[in-house]
Amino acid sequence: MAKKKFKAESKRLLEMMINSIYTQREIFLRELISNASDAIDKIYYKALADDSLVFNKEDYYIKVTADKANRTLTITDTGIGMTAEELENNLGVIAKSGSLAFKEANEAKDGHNIIGQFGVGFYSAFMVADDVTVISKALGSSEAFKWESKGADGYTIEPAEKDSVGTEITLKIKANTEEDQYDEYLEEYRLKSIIKKYSDFIRFPIKMDITTS
Ligand code: ADP
Ligand code: MG
Repeated sequence: MAKKKFKAESKRLLEMMINSIYTQREIFLRELISNASDAIDKIYYKALADDSLVFNKEDYYIKVTADKANRTLTITDTGIGMTAEELENNLGVIAKSGSLAFKEANEAKDGHNIIGQFGVGFYSAFMVADDVTVISKALGSSEAFKWESKGADGYTIEPAEKDSVGTEITLKIKANTEEDQYDEYLEEYRLKSIIKKYSDFIRFPIKMDITTS
């Protein structure tokens, strides 16, 4: 499958994320959890307007899974999911709302110390990951698709297997370097404290599952 290029301004935001400083990085989890929550909200509001759709509260949750041995952190949601076209349109270009405001503010100042104040969106995953995979199945669709990117040089989209509607985002957590530590994003206590700090208001349950081997 041919690799597609990010639009120029998306690429610039992505580069900013990849090179972000240490103190800002933890907000990636806030961004991914808020997207997961938005995706569940979308089903919730659809169900309010559509009698054929029933929203059983217990079926909707966000799950954070860390696998230390494989250095992966996975954020799963039972939200509305994305079609192949939506993966392309939503993840291939800079997002409209928060990220754009961020980008504009960043052009004026040195952006490195303002990242945390903005909803910088999905691309913030690249602050801690060198490979991001999104497997998603949209509500009402029988097919699932996989979006994958290793950063600024582009992304691929291809058919994938997924039984249930929703989205699963897997971050391959960067290796530690002499200056930079990333292991903490695979540690339960650290993940819990980030979730507590930023995601206390999320109205769907956030489950945790950590494996060490
Ligand atoms: P924003 O949330 O400000 O729109 P993001 O960069 O965080 O910007 O996300 C871009 C878009 O990608 C979202 O608007 C949404 O359409 C889509 N998206 C991201 N994560 C998910 C998800 N977990 N489930 C469904 N759609 C998602
Ligand atoms: Mg968002």
